[in-house]
Amino acid sequence: MKINNEGLITTEPVSFLEKNGISVHVLRLDKIHPVVSGNKWFKLRFYLEEAALQNKGTILTYGGAYSNHILATAFACANTGFKSIGIIRGEAPKEISHTLQIATKLGMEIFFLSREAYKNRLLPSEIINTHQYYTIPEGGYGQMGAAGAATIPYNKDLFDKICCAVGTGTMLSGLINSKHPDAKVLGFSVLKNNFSIEAEVEKLLINKTEKVALNHDFHFGGYAKHKPELIRFMNQLYEASAIPTDFVYTGKLFFGVNKLIEQNYFAEGCKLLLIHSGGLQGNLSLRKGTLIF
Ligand SMILES: *Cc1c(COP(=O)(O)O)cnc(C)c1O
Repeated sequence: MKINNEGLITTEPVSFLEKNGISVHVLRLDKIHPVVSGNKWFKLRFYLEEAALQNKGTILTYGGAYSNHILATAFACANTGFKSIGIIRGEAPKEISHTLQIATKLGMEIFFLSREAYKNRLLPSEIINTHQYYTIPEGGYGQMGAAGAATIPYNKDLFDKICCAVGTGTMLSGLINSKHPDAKVLGFSVLKNNFSIEAEVEKLLINKTEKVALNHDFHFGGYAKHKPELIRFMNQLYEASAIPTDFVYTGKLFFGVNKLIEQNYFAEGCKLLLIHSGGLQGNLSLRKGTLIF
């Protein structure tokens, strides 16, 4: 089973961020697909292969109502012949999110679980009794997710530092596992004070002596929280470079990298590669007109 559309990925200079002798490029994983984009393709690929090997016809996975992972799973399943089930954290709302609306259109069966049941992975018996399913962990976190993220394609010889946004840390682990030995990877956590993430990333490292570098300063109040300063920056970035970002992950990554460049955090002459991990569909939950793209 092949994840298609890798040919659409480009590496582009981001002159808007180039200051203080730092060179900046972006890897446009967001170009893989307008809705289901970015790192999720890569994190899912080996789970789907294993499910196929085990002859499971249905994929079951977990996530929140705005989860890019849920949507990517729905899409990948629709395109590879799996049925899909999304277990969503929290009681069913009156009106379901854009993300879940699209997932449902793609054929995903959605079940809402109370936070307590979700935490304990207590599935409704109608699922357990009627489906032969393969479970993909929440957010695709796990060895296989990291192995998939390690196949994110870019020229390993060109960059000193790879920067990415971090949710579960699966992508970060994969990027560390596949980097050039002399290169470093720096993750930007989008959750507030989520310091346990270091250990979660370490669990997925092949070389346990690798240090995990994580920045916790650009979460803007927490997961999916934002401030006018962030939105303004995302609009400026788009105006200057035609790079759209999302307010949950990549906007915070670009903002953080820009701040660190201004603070002379990186050594002069450093060649940065920012991973644009997609997620643009998340912007649909912002009020219309907030972003200029
Ligand atoms: C899910 C996601 C991430 C985080 O990936 P993890 O492997 O969970 O750390 C980053 N960026 C975007 C756009 C995402 O959708």
